[in-house]
Amino acid sequence: MTSTGSFDSIHTAIATSDTTIAPSLPLLGLSLAELTAWVQQQGQPAYRGKQLHQWIYQQGARSLSEMSVFPKQWRAEQSEVVIGRSSLHYRSQAADGTVKFLLRLLDGQIIETVGIPTEKRLTVCVSSQVGCPMACDFCATGKGGFQRNLQRHEIVDQVLTVQEDFGQRVSNIVFMGMGEPLLNVDHVLGAVRSLNLDVGIGQRAITISTVGIPGRILRLAQHQLQATLAISLHASNQTLRETLIPSAHQYPLEALLDECREYVKITGRRVTFEYILLAGLNDGIQHAEELAGHLRGFQSHVNLIPYNPISEVDYQRPDEQRIQAFVTTLKKRHIAVSVRRPRGLEADAACGQLRASQIKAAIA
Ligand code: SAH
Repeated sequence: MTSTGSFDSIHTAIATSDTTIAPSLPLLGLSLAELTAWVQQQGQPAYRGKQLHQWIYQQGARSLSEMSVFPKQWRAEQSEVVIGRSSLHYRSQAADGTVKFLLRLLDGQIIETVGIPTEKRLTVCVSSQVGCPMACDFCATGKGGFQRNLQRHEIVDQVLTVQEDFGQRVSNIVFMGMGEPLLNVDHVLGAVRSLNLDVGIGQRAITISTVGIPGRILRLAQHQLQATLAISLHASNQTLRETLIPSAHQYPLEALLDECREYVKITGRRVTFEYILLAGLNDGIQHAEELAGHLRGFQSHVNLIPYNPISEVDYQRPDEQRIQAFVTTLKKRHIAVSVRRPRGLEADAACGQLRASQIKAAIA
């Protein structure tokens, strides 16, 4: 079952039958009602909307010309219509089955998407922006600067691309690729709606990861999103957080945590806190104690991420003993905790790394 959350209201607002859809708008990411409105605008009967929806989302059509159910002459008349699919620029597969894709967008920009298979799941790590303006010190994407926001079709495309490559339905989506999703809320929400209702992925199987932008977490809550919210916390106090995440200067830890508490109250969904473990910096017992202090009684879950080395900076991943000591300390304080094991490390697993190394190779 797919949950619809509050999309019905967004959906009806943008998809009444008198909606005029700009001719240049890519069709991918549009709902059934929007596609129906569009075919009618183009002089076709309403049932063609359903056919178009099926060809785009189930058959993976990349152009109208290949949709053989439509009259040939009409397809020829629509030759300028864009579906909005990317093309494959580079593909790299790790021994554990993780596949990294560099996708070329219609304007030539390159983004990164990762498909992560496990026994029961196929998870896609999607990008929400080309590059990222947050400049977190440990993140390779941040080192490359920011180009632009992705549009909703460019986010949906990433999921369809992985689904087609694996020949298997995608079960989960994490917004943990390039970019800061909450700086691109409208397109991210539009994409989540489409992934939920058009592609058929349950909202609860979608995770939006953010470093935290003041006021934006509440904006998600107001949509009654059933997606999981993950906060990139990475530090147990404000001073430490500011050294790793420049934007933390504008968003005190207490204010961020308060907004998250409000999110839990409004949505009834627990929040995940991501915490990169950096040896000798934030991985001590005292940090675990401090973190536990903040999260006492908070409906949340801590996801520890042992640091994935990137070439630009000199952080280290802690050894297994230190990781376990951190876990044990949190558990003793009754904090729900798990450790995210790196996948596909040899294929440049850390956020933004594949793109950075590819671009370097291309210009060398
Ligand atoms: N901007 C969003 C989503 C993109 S990053 C955010 O900050 O949450 C997705 C996750 O990967 C974040 O938790 C981020 O902190 C983490 N990450 C980035 N670089 C990493 C690295 N070198 N090693 C481990 N995790 C990293």
